Amino acid sequence: MLNADGMEILHVSAECYPVAKVGGLGDVVGALPKYEQEEGCIAKVVMPCYKTKFLENNEFELVHQAGTWVGPSWFHFNVLKEKTNKLGFDLYLLDIPGLLDTEGVYGYANDTERFVAFQVAVLDWVASWQHRPDAIHCHDHHSGLIPFMASYCLKYISLRAVPTVLTIHNAQYQGQFGWDIMHWIPAFDPWKAGLLDWGGVINPLASAIKCSWRVTTVSPGYMEELTYAANGLESLIRSERAKCSGILNGIDTSVWDPQQDDMIRKGYSARNVVSGKLANKKALCEVFGFDEDKPLVSFIGRLVYDKGADLLPDIIGRALYENDNQVNFLVLGSGDPHIEWSLEQLKQYVGKEFNTYIGYNEALSHLIYAGSDFLLMPSRVEPCGLNQLYSLRYGTVPMVRSIGGLKDTVIDFGDEGGYGIRFDHPSVWDACYSVGRAIELYRNRAHLNTLRRLMMKLDFSWQRSAMQYLDLYNSLK
Ligand code: ADP
Repeated sequence: MLNADGMEILHVSAECYPVAKVGGLGDVVGALPKYEQEEGCIAKVVMPCYKTKFLENNEFELVHQAGTWVGPSWFHFNVLKEKTNKLGFDLYLLDIPGLLDTEGVYGYANDTERFVAFQVAVLDWVASWQHRPDAIHCHDHHSGLIPFMASYCLKYISLRAVPTVLTIHNAQYQGQFGWDIMHWIPAFDPWKAGLLDWGGVINPLASAIKCSWRVTTVSPGYMEELTYAANGLESLIRSERAKCSGILNGIDTSVWDPQQDDMIRKGYSARNVVSGKLANKKALCEVFGFDEDKPLVSFIGRLVYDKGADLLPDIIGRALYENDNQVNFLVLGSGDPHIEWSLEQLKQYVGKEFNTYIGYNEALSHLIYAGSDFLLMPSRVEPCGLNQLYSLRYGTVPMVRSIGGLKDTVIDFGDEGGYGIRFDHPSVWDACYSVGRAIELYRNRAHLNTLRRLMMKLDFSWQRSAMQYLDLYNSLK
């Protein structure tokens, strides 16, 4: 029987919703600790103190102040604790003035220095505690040096016995940097240097895979995929396979609740899904100039190659041509400037059946999940994917490429118990074929509405996944 009572877990992450979010990592770290806490854990999150609205609008107390060396530079840092338990768990912001107080999360020339300094300061702070946490849970490469440093840096000798867990949200990004700046990492046992290395450079993600006590990925399907497609880490994953497992992400049903969502025009449940979705579709059609009688296919996400976003202009152009403009497309996203430009260009060539919002807009994303009929995800890589889970919760049929977490969570409506649309290849042809199937389904409104009700009743909440993480922490005792 699971016993989580009083177990103290410290999550270390670059993102945490609603403080700062770029993608799914923020959603997960904003939700998982809350559910762990509900199961009796003491879950804490420490993240960089960016200059965000959350910082301005909330109250914090200073709980620690110190300074540390990162290579030749001395940094002063503060640890701030959010005062009101607003997120349902203890949130700590690590403030390094002049380094972490940026408006954005990533994409700065000194990102390596920023995240190395963050990790060093986190361990300095944890080493100063009177007690030890039961586990440090690292997320992606931004906290990937922690398992190595906690085990082998001389100044963290007191943390050596603290178990470390790594969750890989996306193995495409590994945070590599050269050995010439190895001295940014506090002095360590030189015999262990190989544990930092992968391919002749320091690779924080690879190092975390080697040094963590356990490794998880955000879906079982992605775990299997990493053994043959992990952006260069395949052989490492295979050799460390015994300590790796896949735990499917959940969704925060208190944030993503079509009945209580104040970011959409009309709340609805499975019972009144037809009128509820129509009201929200009307709101979208007003903003983007669509004909509400036509099916609306949307895309939300980072406009990058991994998401298949480069295929969108061709998919949309061809699908409109093949289907005589009997479908609408809406894209919300930002990312690769060339893809952004191509989408803007496409607007000039096709009619009012296509529109786009280039940028990040949390409220609009909620309205799109609620008001669209279909959500397209032609991903090349999808470790878990949250968009399809939100779309299921809002009764919107996901149209997904069969990969990673998409394969684990969406069953094609042509198969037994199915509700979504799946296609095999991230290609214009496969996606357009699926658009054809979506239009057919939209014409059979009774069938579509049955699927909507079925989808909305599926359970992808965090409870189940949080229990699996607690089992994992327990196995480290
Ligand atoms: P990833 O983490 O790879 O970007 P996920 O599917 O795991 O992909 O999570 C994406 C999250 O980011 C979802 O919550 C999605 O709604 C949100 N999102 C992505 N792009 C945007 C955007 N431009 N505006 C609003 N929300 C966005």
